[in-house]
Amino acid sequence: MKVSVDANTCTGCELCCDSVPDVFVMDGSVARVKVDAVPAELQDAVRDAAGSCPVQAIQVTE
Ligand code: SF4
Repeated sequence: MKVSVDANTCTGCELCCDSVPDVFVMDGSVARVKVDAVPAELQDAVRDAAGSCPVQAIQVTE
């Protein structure tokens, strides 16, 4: 599973970084993904983070 953040949409609320710090990290004023592939044990948390992003800036590719 892969995940990406649309930097043009992200508002930098930090929600995803707080929820799954092993996958998302703040990079200046926006979040970015710091892994190539999402580890199996974090996939549910990443899906939840994508669903919780207030501006739908997180894209998950199964
Ligand atoms: S939850 Fe969405 S808006 Fe907030 S930092 Fe993450 S990607 Fe950006």
